[in-house]
Amino acid sequence: MVNASMYDLGANRSCIRELFEYGRQRAAVVGKENVFDYSLGNPSIPAPKEVNQAIIQVLSQMDSLQVHGYTSATGDLSARTAIAQDLNRRFGAGASEEDLFLGCGAAPELVSVIRALAVENAELIAIAPYFPEYKPFVESCGGTFRVVPADIPNFQINFAALRSTINKNTQAVILNSPNNPSGTVYGEETLRELADLLTEKSLQIGHPIYIISDEPYRELVYDGVSVPFLPNLYPNTIVCYSYSKSLSLPGERIGYVYVPRQAADHDALFAAICGAARASGHVCAPSLWQHVIARCTDLRPNLTAYAENRRLLWQGLQSFGYEMAQPDGAFYLFVKAPNGNAKAFSDLAKELDVLIVPGDDFGCPEYFRLCYCVSRDCIQRSLPRFGELMQMVKKAR
Ligand code: PLP
Repeated sequence: MVNASMYDLGANRSCIRELFEYGRQRAAVVGKENVFDYSLGNPSIPAPKEVNQAIIQVLSQMDSLQVHGYTSATGDLSARTAIAQDLNRRFGAGASEEDLFLGCGAAPELVSVIRALAVENAELIAIAPYFPEYKPFVESCGGTFRVVPADIPNFQINFAALRSTINKNTQAVILNSPNNPSGTVYGEETLRELADLLTEKSLQIGHPIYIISDEPYRELVYDGVSVPFLPNLYPNTIVCYSYSKSLSLPGERIGYVYVPRQAADHDALFAAICGAARASGHVCAPSLWQHVIARCTDLRPNLTAYAENRRLLWQGLQSFGYEMAQPDGAFYLFVKAPNGNAKAFSDLAKELDVLIVPGDDFGCPEYFRLCYCVSRDCIQRSLPRFGELMQMVKKAR
């Protein structure tokens, strides 16, 4: 006998993975260069060369037993200290190594934080459009997953809906900015309004409502847009950070959870996160990578290739009459399906070997997502197909 909900999760691939696997099969038939796969958010720029240099440094200068040995459950002190110093330099965070838990990327970190907050009847709120894995993360921890519908077409926060979704069981709001799938960055005005609302509601219901700030795309912003550091605006923020996208290291599984000292019930919260990580067997992040990160906290990605891809796609799609969310960050465009049904539009695009993800699983079924972490050639050669698709939709009207 197996657990039925775990079986369902394992046996049914996500729509994104489904498309990605389809793309692989299709490439074997028509050739890789003839499949325009915009499905998966796998970075397309290599990790900065300093990362490789840091690996060599760690391997050549450190004792091998230390490099490959277990670290403290929360992470090696040198890595936690380096990250705290980085947060303090950049944001004046007032962080210390005692506030940091090194994790295997944002996904398991989110699960640990959600699990730490999963008291009886706990409800966690996501703002659409949202990363689809939030739902299984919350539900597998026994929580109830609530969704605030998207604020279309601005893709900021639908405050009237958020206000009416919060109730006495609300434990946290999960926020992701820069956002997957919309590429939106929540501006300071939006975040201040959110902080005010959550402060008011926390007082009303008699316990803190935390923000879980999911930040794998923090450093991926364009045209000088800045991402406000949420703990400075709302102390009850728990940051889940990852180096997967910022340093193009998604396969290495490294990131951190930061619980600001000013957060309500800091010590209990931090202990519960450590306990949740322990309960899911997720302590002691990869040791080599902790030592590498300790040497790389100053590195920022070179976004030239993404910026150019974004410009090409944005201009090309606009010229065909597509409408899109303002793509200030990450490497996604969230585009309105011209026929009003992104699933049907994605199926149509598939016929032209263009793979795009319908927004249903992101809580926004009228839009589809394009990951522009692809080659420039892919964009240049696929753009005419988007034109063709628009014509097909117009003809069908
Ligand atoms: N959160 C968001 C919004 C993501 O897009 C992703 C990955 O694509 C993750 C979390 C998981 O990232 P990680 O590789 O750090 O586990």
